[in-house]
Amino acid sequence: MRQQHGSHRSTGGNRSRRRGVWLVGLIAAGLAVTATANEGLQDSLPPITGIHEVAENLYLLANADPDDQGAWTGGNTAVWITDEGVVLVDTKLAGYGQAILERVREVTDKPVTTIINTHTHFDHAGSNTEFPDSVSFVAHENTATQMARAECGPVTGCDAFKGENRKYLPDRTYADRLSLFSGRDRVDLYHFGRGHTNGDTLVVFPAVRTMHTGDLYPWRGLPFVDVEGSGGSAVDYGATLNRAVAGIPGVETVITGHINTPVGWSDFEEFADFYNHLADAARAGLYAGRSAEETAADYAVPARFRGYDADPETVLSIMQHIHAGR
Ligand SMILES: [Zn+2]
Repeated sequence: MRQQHGSHRSTGGNRSRRRGVWLVGLIAAGLAVTATANEGLQDSLPPITGIHEVAENLYLLANADPDDQGAWTGGNTAVWITDEGVVLVDTKLAGYGQAILERVREVTDKPVTTIINTHTHFDHAGSNTEFPDSVSFVAHENTATQMARAECGPVTGCDAFKGENRKYLPDRTYADRLSLFSGRDRVDLYHFGRGHTNGDTLVVFPAVRTMHTGDLYPWRGLPFVDVEGSGGSAVDYGATLNRAVAGIPGVETVITGHINTPVGWSDFEEFADFYNHLADAARAGLYAGRSAEETAADYAVPARFRGYDADPETVLSIMQHIHAGR
């Protein structure tokens, strides 16, 4: 498990290891699809090792760090217990539906009634189709469109929603903001524009001052910007983060896409600054008539972002996207 603060990770090897894990994840997702037809294979998936209380009636199913290959189960899943039933935010890789339900039963007898997906990716919506079809699925309207696409990019996960499984596509969508439930049960969904994908949702539980960011804030390092697969934008990403920082009131605790333990609101603000620092450097290079390659080669992470991953390949990739206006 990664330390919350004071990480001493190098800036090169970890990231390439992470990219390798994306591939392993794709294979795991494929295995899990097979596993629904072959129960034995499901046992080979790493377990969800616990259900962790974040606040009253809010829990976290972690094992979310893709650097920890042997324990990775997909992105963080939040479990919110309301009067009416249980709300989940994200469903990890395919093959984890039953394991999620078993963990939820350790803290409540209430049924899962609502699943919110922060975005379309296979490691965040992978087990949607393993829940009862009485569940209401909620996502941003662009994420619903991504999930329903005829042709699926490699990490979109949209192959899972074909044929019979179309009934697991979102039945409730929104454009900018949506509130579900009332009183202490209330959940606020926010979309501030393109970033990791074109349908990223930030999920806020106001009663406990906590937010789940999905992969808009994935880890302490440069994000994967899914430009080709899911309509993400390296150009817009920084402004989207800034709008979220300015536009979401009252949050103290933040569940990220892939850090195993909750962090603070100031970590989210710092991540926004970290991304914008790189994006500003990319634009400065562009205006100075320098290539993305030249600008990336000169980029250094400032000391105030010590411990953040910024490997040269991801720096170059984001700078190329920005130079190309993507
Ligand atoms: Zn993602």
